[in-house]
Amino acid sequence: MKLEDAIRKVPGIGPKRETALRAEGIETVGHFLAHLPKAYVDRSKRSALTAQTDQPVTVEAVITKKGTVRHIRRNLSLFHCDIEDDDGHRGRVTVFNQPWLSDRLEEDQWYYFFGKIDESKGMPVMANPQFVPVDKPGSFFDLTPIYSKISGLGSEGVHKIVSRILKPKNQSDALDVPEILPDWLRKKYDLESAEAMLDDLHLPKTAADVERGKRRMKFEEALKINIGIMKNRVAGEMSNVHLYHLASITRFENGLPFALTAGQKKVLSEIEADLLSGKVMNRLVQGDVGSGKTIIAVACAYWMALGGYQCAYMAPTEILARQHAKNFDAFLAPYGIAVTLITGSMKEKERANALAHIESGEAQVIIGTHALFQKDVRYYNLGMVITDEQHRFGVHQRGVFADKGERPHMLVMSATPIPRTLALVLYGDLDLSVIDTMPEGRKPVKTYFYTEKAMSKILTFMAKSMSEGRQCLIVCPFIDDSAEMEGVRDTQSVYKSVQQYYKGLYRVGCLHGKMAAADKQAVIDRFNDGDLDLLVATSIVEVGIDVPNLTVMAVMSADRFGLSQLHQLRGRVGRGGQQAYCFLISNNLGEKTVERMKVIVNHHDGREIAEADFRLRGPGDVLGTRQHGLPSLSALDPAADSGLIAETKDVALALMQSPKAADMRCVSALSNAFDQGVGKISMN
Ligand code: ADP
Ligand code: MG
Repeated sequence: MKLEDAIRKVPGIGPKRETALRAEGIETVGHFLAHLPKAYVDRSKRSALTAQTDQPVTVEAVITKKGTVRHIRRNLSLFHCDIEDDDGHRGRVTVFNQPWLSDRLEEDQWYYFFGKIDESKGMPVMANPQFVPVDKPGSFFDLTPIYSKISGLGSEGVHKIVSRILKPKNQSDALDVPEILPDWLRKKYDLESAEAMLDDLHLPKTAADVERGKRRMKFEEALKINIGIMKNRVAGEMSNVHLYHLASITRFENGLPFALTAGQKKVLSEIEADLLSGKVMNRLVQGDVGSGKTIIAVACAYWMALGGYQCAYMAPTEILARQHAKNFDAFLAPYGIAVTLITGSMKEKERANALAHIESGEAQVIIGTHALFQKDVRYYNLGMVITDEQHRFGVHQRGVFADKGERPHMLVMSATPIPRTLALVLYGDLDLSVIDTMPEGRKPVKTYFYTEKAMSKILTFMAKSMSEGRQCLIVCPFIDDSAEMEGVRDTQSVYKSVQQYYKGLYRVGCLHGKMAAADKQAVIDRFNDGDLDLLVATSIVEVGIDVPNLTVMAVMSADRFGLSQLHQLRGRVGRGGQQAYCFLISNNLGEKTVERMKVIVNHHDGREIAEADFRLRGPGDVLGTRQHGLPSLSALDPAADSGLIAETKDVALALMQSPKAADMRCVSALSNAFDQGVGKISMN
């Protein structure tokens, strides 16, 4: 069998299954094998029958007494076995809702029991353990892969099919796995073959097998990313945006209500050098929440427009796009620069109008969401694209412009401090600028962590602030309580009760993602204009509100948010320079939650918070690379494995410069795989 054979060829897969798999994009044997286990159960760790383990362990014990099955309720049956291990430790096995297991457990027989040990009434207890008689262990101690479902097939079903592919009954059906990596490379870096990798990932015996398989796969992926990026490299390419001098930044600065910070000036001078270099700019600007990234973008738009080019600014949400359009306009109108908004939800006529302006060049600064990239948007002469919080968009966006024959300068702005190597994976080959100073006079937001018991005090506190003319914000993790978990606060019900609470005293509004665009905008406008005193919202406001008068915020079910997200949210208050307050509310007092909340309470520097977040949640979750950016990087975690990505850069270079046939084949296979989707394992 070959990797590119239709999945139908695998014994046991009929037309029905084939159709279902096809619907999920699985057409070939290779596609199926690319579905890797999400975890492995390892029953090899043995333990005495003593109290409490975090992880499941295997205990060898004899059943001293078997209880009878009791049917407690309609949906609850139960029996116990008293057990004792070799050292005389006593304990108990409890089996819920599996009465048939009673026939498979016998008194005086020794078993391996696998499960977590809890404690109940001073005695070690295992609930619903897996077990096997000691004299017939079978494959009990082999690692068991756990797969996520594919088209209705559960983990065991997937495993069965995988086994049929990798270990066929007839030797003549054995899978033929082509080797992409040249021999010298595998020897030098001690990497196993592609064939062994598949066996080790899908049918491992020990944890060491999985490690070997993962190592090979990660290496290949890291290499693929490096080769892909180098092949697609834009940096160093000559620009067709010709700016021989830039409009005076002093004049721009004189028009601002504040002086630029040292950090902002430094970043602007780096951008200036890029724009005058004659090469295409690819630059990432990093700056903590509130460090003033927007004005950098506005300055770029100013340079572009006065130099005769268009500048597009892409925001992550429509709300933000609208807000930015207003902001940019306020800054740029005095120079006669025309700002145009284009969004997905615009009315037909409005949109046609915007499109015409963009095509004619009348629109000089164009602000929007993904709508900026749609086919029908034709630019007159696009000089620069700026994207905000770019990690939500992914690597391949540059290609959109290349396809249109344009080669604009690229500026990416992010509040998340990202290690250099990771930035490389996420954004390609970018230069980095950091805004390392904050505007003067910012006071750290006083931050507290409370349970919901404190809510009435907080509402009183908010009332006092509102009576002094300030505005307040309450953020909830969910829109309504229908789909989500019990005890987690949702916007609608919090809105209802808060509105009731302040009835006749203060004006309360509600904002969430499911509202119609126009309604959202109306609420935001009212809040920005001071016509609402308090806003109850989802995290849609994370990057969407800029009200200097906003001084108090509460985050409900704060444990539901990531630390970096909480930091972003907190960045919404105290922008006007007054003392601001942030209350994190959660009834979850678990150790981990408390630790996480303390990070926000005690730290105000985005870098420190991101580091803590990396440590507590893992980099992939923090940066959202699991869901965004790099689709299905199957083994490689671009953050945790950034060392490997850096390491394989030289290997990639060596391969790309090599005249050997095997090396050239490797480069073309990996770069094709990269172009088809980063992280898709290269076996179609
Ligand atoms: P972020 O980096 O989070 O995008 P913004 O660009 O939204 O930050 O700026 C946050 C606030 O700080 C805005 O209200 C902005 O007008 C203000 N600001 C920006 N630069 C300065 C500066 N140099 N001095 C004072 N205030 C500034
Ligand atoms: Mg911003």
